[in-house]
Amino acid sequence: MSAATCTHEGARTLYNVERGIAFRADCGDRRVCVAARHRRNREMRERLSLVDYLRTPDLWTFTARTREQDALIEARELIRERRRRGESVNDTAERIAPLCMYRAEDRGVINRENLAIFNRALERVVRAVARQAERERHPGYRSTRHAAMLRNRYGNEHVARGRPGAALRIRVREAGELHGRLHAHAASDFDYLDKRWLDDHCRRCGLGFCEFERRNTKVMRAAARFSGRAVRSRTIGLYLSKYLSIPDDRRWPWPTHARLVSSARKVLPPRPPKPGWAFKPQSVAGVAVDLLGAVAVDVDVCFYSRDRDPMNRLLERGPPCAA
Ligand SMILES: [Zn+2]
Repeated sequence: MSAATCTHEGARTLYNVERGIAFRADCGDRRVCVAARHRRNREMRERLSLVDYLRTPDLWTFTARTREQDALIEARELIRERRRRGESVNDTAERIAPLCMYRAEDRGVINRENLAIFNRALERVVRAVARQAERERHPGYRSTRHAAMLRNRYGNEHVARGRPGAALRIRVREAGELHGRLHAHAASDFDYLDKRWLDDHCRRCGLGFCEFERRNTKVMRAAARFSGRAVRSRTIGLYLSKYLSIPDDRRWPWPTHARLVSSARKVLPPRPPKPGWAFKPQSVAGVAVDLLGAVAVDVDVCFYSRDRDPMNRLLERGPPCAA
C-alpha cells in the first residue's frame, strides 16, 4: 500500500454511498503522479493474480534489437558469405568498420515508434512459438521435413513443447534502469522451450537476444510450489508486477497511454468490479455533501467517513441538552 497522495489538478474522488466513505483518488497521469503509478500497479497486480497457469511458468526476457545488434548480424553475414566463397576475411575490416559506429541504444530507446516495432516483433515471436507447439502436437510430426530440419540444426525436434492453450501468456514491458533499454518479461507455461531455437526466431522476427531468467524462475518456483492454484497465481502476479514498478523519483519513461502488459487472448482477466464503489470528478468535500449526507466539511479534505463525522453524530444524538 502506498502513502503517496495525488496533489494534482483533476484528482477524482472514490466513494461508497452505503458505507459513507469518500477519499481522494489520483489524477491518473502516470507521468507526473506517483499516486497514480502506485494505483495502476496495484490494479495490474490484482489482475495478474487472477491468471490461471497450467503450471508455475518460466520467466523469459526479450530485448529490443538495437542498431548495434543489426551491425553485428550484418558483419557476421559478410564474414560467412566470404568464407563460403573461399575468400579471405582479412580485408573485411574496411566494410565492417562503419558498422562499429552504431550506438547500442539506438532502437532500445523508448519512444512510440520503437515501442511499436518491439511489440510487433514480440507478437511475431509468440505466434511462431505457438505454431511450432501446434506442429509438435501433431501425431506424424517426427517424420516431417520440418522435424528433420530442426533435428539437424538443434539436435532436437521438440523445441516448443506444451499442452494446448499454453503460451507465453503474459508479457510485461520494462524500461532498463541503466540505459532505459526496452525489453519485456514473459511468463511461459510451456513445458520446454529451446533457447537456441527461440534466439534464432527472435532474430528472424526483429528482436534482439532472449534470455531464460534462471534465477528469478527458480525463486518464483520455490515461492509458488507448495500452494494451491489461487495462491500460486497470486505469487506469480506479485513477481510479474515487480517489473512494473519503477522508483518514485524516476522520470516516467513511457509514452502516454502505453500499455505495459499484454497477454494472449482472454488470458488476463479484468479486475473484478467492487460493488458500491464509484468515481466522481469532484472534490471529496463535494461528494460528501452531495451524496453522503455531510453537513459541513472542510473544502480540502482527502478523506471523509460518515461514521467519523462529528457533525453527523451531533445530529443523530440530537442537540446536547443543557444540564
Ligand atoms: Zn496526480
